[in-house]
Amino acid sequence: MSKNAVLVINCGSSSLKFSLIKPETSELIVSGIAERLLTKDAFIKTKYNGVKDQQSLSGNFDHEAALEKIVEFLLENKLDKDLVGVGHRIVHGGEAYSQPTLVTEEVKEGIENLAKLAPLHNLVNLTGILASEKAFADLPQVTVYDTAFHQTMPEKAYLTGLPYHFYKDHGVRNYGMHGTSHYFVTKQAAEMLGKPYEESSFISAHLGNGCSITAVENGRSVDTSMGLTPLAGVVMGTRSGDIDPGIIFHLVDKLGYSVDDVNRILNKESGLLGISGMSNDCRTIEDAVVNDNDERANLTMDIFCYRIAKTIASYTAALTHLDGIIFTGGIGENSNLVRERVGKSLKLLGVEIDPERNLAARFGNSGKISTDSSHNCWVIPTNEEQVIAEQTFALIQQEK
Ligand code: AMP
Repeated sequence: MSKNAVLVINCGSSSLKFSLIKPETSELIVSGIAERLLTKDAFIKTKYNGVKDQQSLSGNFDHEAALEKIVEFLLENKLDKDLVGVGHRIVHGGEAYSQPTLVTEEVKEGIENLAKLAPLHNLVNLTGILASEKAFADLPQVTVYDTAFHQTMPEKAYLTGLPYHFYKDHGVRNYGMHGTSHYFVTKQAAEMLGKPYEESSFISAHLGNGCSITAVENGRSVDTSMGLTPLAGVVMGTRSGDIDPGIIFHLVDKLGYSVDDVNRILNKESGLLGISGMSNDCRTIEDAVVNDNDERANLTMDIFCYRIAKTIASYTAALTHLDGIIFTGGIGENSNLVRERVGKSLKLLGVEIDPERNLAARFGNSGKISTDSSHNCWVIPTNEEQVIAEQTFALIQQEK
């Protein structure tokens, strides 16, 4: 039997998520995460054959050591024999990488160079590639970029209001993120509608710790809310999203914050966390709204949902028709309160959320949440790992 499984790796600064997937059948064989890497509390969790396991990784485990542990696990369970290659999620591909790409020395250099646009992500993604090359020396390594799906955006959407030379000389433009997720859920929606992907248009809202909204026309991303970095767009767990750029000068010149302070405030101390003063976790805020009638939690929810609705409504300017609106990501898939409030603000657009359908679409359930007379609204759980596995597999087959 030919080899048909792909190991998907998604490296964060202190974590390494992995999945072993058979892309042709969408079978998830193993999933797991190594967390708190580079600390004395590092541990690895795996789920295989319905059995969950957790082991602590003593001695300052890094990404390389975590990958060695994963190799050990695959060997122990004789899962290595089906492995055809490794697919890596890379956050920033700039303009150079609009397609899945086989790792070469040049590609690694490219990812490193693009770290100037995504310093928090690209370098750690590269660490994952280097560690994986050591662990799986005989296997092809493929990179799949979060920005790639948005490379179809027209100039009017990806250029900013800055002087043109910043784009020409330094690549300063909107790139967008979460592309793999937006692609997956919009493709699923087209399948649910029974319409060819190339003829259908959607607005998808990926709402998780990071949030982005994308307009997809005829299977191509035509606008998205994240920009040069994942800080742009709607309010997120700890990120402010769009603010008046003048606020930055005000914080620095008038209130005495350093540029590093402002960077930290906008990325780590704002959003749901900063407004509520409570948590970056939507569950905690929702709980305070529903059970404690907490005023600030309610305001936080209002700001969060209004900004999402406003962005969705603005994307009608990017589309010629609309087949439906999709909610995905941890919040989009689980929070009926967020979906209900977003829906209420979109009444003029012809959106009406059905309370019962909305309540039923929770905890991984997908489905239509709008009334029959409304524009279609769906909850569709995302599966970025499946897309990375499919694209990795396809590229490896093509290169054979
Ligand atoms: P993600 O980044 O897509 O994994 O989403 C993570 C976020 O989803 C968490 O920070 C929570 O805010 C949110 N989330 C997860 N489960 C729920 C839930 N049942 N209700 C509301 N929000 C949730």
